[in-house]
Amino acid sequence: HPPIHIVGGGLAGSEAAWQIAERGHPVVIHEMRPVRGTEAHKSRDLAELVCSNSFRSDDANGNAVGLLHQEMRTLGSLILRAADAHQVPAGGALAVDRDGFAAAVTAALEAHPLVTIAREEVEGLPPEEWGRAIIATGPLTSPALAQAIRELTGAEALAFFDAIAPIVHRDSIDMDKAWFQSRYDKVGPGGTGADYINCPMDREQYDGFIQALIAGDKIGFKEWEATTPYFDGCLPIEIMAERGPETLRHGPMKPVGLTNPHDPTVKACAIVQLRQDNALGTLYNMVGFQTKLTYSEQVRVFRTIPGLENAEFARLGGLHRNTYLDSPRLLDATLRLKARPSLRFAGQITGCEGYVESAAIGLMAGRFAVAEARGESLEPLPATTALGALIGHITGGHIAAEDAGTPRSFQPMNVNFGLFPPLDHSPKGEGGKRLKGPEKAVAKKKALTDRGRADLAAWMGNAPARIAAE
Ligand code: FAD
Repeated sequence: HPPIHIVGGGLAGSEAAWQIAERGHPVVIHEMRPVRGTEAHKSRDLAELVCSNSFRSDDANGNAVGLLHQEMRTLGSLILRAADAHQVPAGGALAVDRDGFAAAVTAALEAHPLVTIAREEVEGLPPEEWGRAIIATGPLTSPALAQAIRELTGAEALAFFDAIAPIVHRDSIDMDKAWFQSRYDKVGPGGTGADYINCPMDREQYDGFIQALIAGDKIGFKEWEATTPYFDGCLPIEIMAERGPETLRHGPMKPVGLTNPHDPTVKACAIVQLRQDNALGTLYNMVGFQTKLTYSEQVRVFRTIPGLENAEFARLGGLHRNTYLDSPRLLDATLRLKARPSLRFAGQITGCEGYVESAAIGLMAGRFAVAEARGESLEPLPATTALGALIGHITGGHIAAEDAGTPRSFQPMNVNFGLFPPLDHSPKGEGGKRLKGPEKAVAKKKALTDRGRADLAAWMGNAPARIAAE
């Protein structure tokens, strides 16, 4: 068998290589370190953790990333095996001794008879004669390769910075204060004229909000990030606020073309708009609210917005150096580049976010590639599993939302329950009791993880010869 080539031996590339080799297929990893470094990596190890040493919650009974851990263990993940072996105490989180972890991943791959590791930078697209290849070069993909990808996909399709606005769970927004309406009731393709959720502010609330934005604690740019200029239209909201107290109400918070049905006589001073973020309609992003405020400040300040007092955030805002594709447009359901299907992408460059998610997408890219190389059929993962929900976010969910008339750019995301299809029925308490508040939220998360586990087991049972674990 000709080997499958993987560019980048980070979290995603290492996991993809392991999955391919464990299925008896040869694989070559091309990793540029230590020949060439990145701004964040410090060692020559594969799967180096560039910042925190945490893989986040390990609770598989009520947390989406905990469920993802469990699914990856079930599917024979090398990254999870090494993490479990090098765990350090961290309460309910899975945290690791970073050096021990990366050394274990490197040693396992170096020792595998079907794995070759070439320490070299791939300075352009993988040559055609390589056949199947997976690009897993991460948020800090080297400039020469990034340039080559841009030439193939178009300049708009590969971003070098993310500008993430906070994303809110739809069912945590108070619709007694907020309302659905598009500006001037404009009906876009597939839209209804009521595509946005609007949260109104009076003058006092607005002035207080501007002051809180300016005074709030912020995260500084890293030295090497600071040299990258903000893209036009991606200015952090607090920088806009600093430019003058009225800037935001003439920009992303302008109150024109909207009428509050709860009190049509009152003219709002400013309005925060939220736009549908996923095809399921469970998540809404705060339009224009990319920010460098710290996470705790975001929660505190954004919960002062009328209607968002009890907002639950699926992700908070940020602005980072990050190389990632417009995947919903460019990749097919098995992570192949539509313009050149012998190439797959994996890891953070596909628009997932985080160590675990990057490794998870690597796991699936590896399994897809090896199954294809062997002519096996591929059964899509149920969207109710954490892996299926994450792949759905990257390859599908956003296109459908665009078709529904809510145009917006694709932004990276951690795995979270907002990416899962909603439950058919609300979970009930003992004796069929209706649950409320925190009790209901806990029961809902438990029901979502139970459903995911059952559906993964059924998928594996039904697909023994496909990409299920041997
Ligand atoms: P990486 O792990 O970065 O692997 C990519 C590999 O490709 C690297 O080894 C690189 O050397 C190699 N490479 C690049 N270009 C080439 C080329 N042309 N030829 C050959 N090799 C190449 N996530 C978290 O969960 N927690 C955090 O605390 C966290 N902190 C982060 C801090 C920073 C500064 C950055 C940039 C990201 C952070 N992330 C964090 C996000 C992300 O989860 C990690 O970056 C993660 O390592 C991504 O995995 P990956 O496999 O996609 O990329």
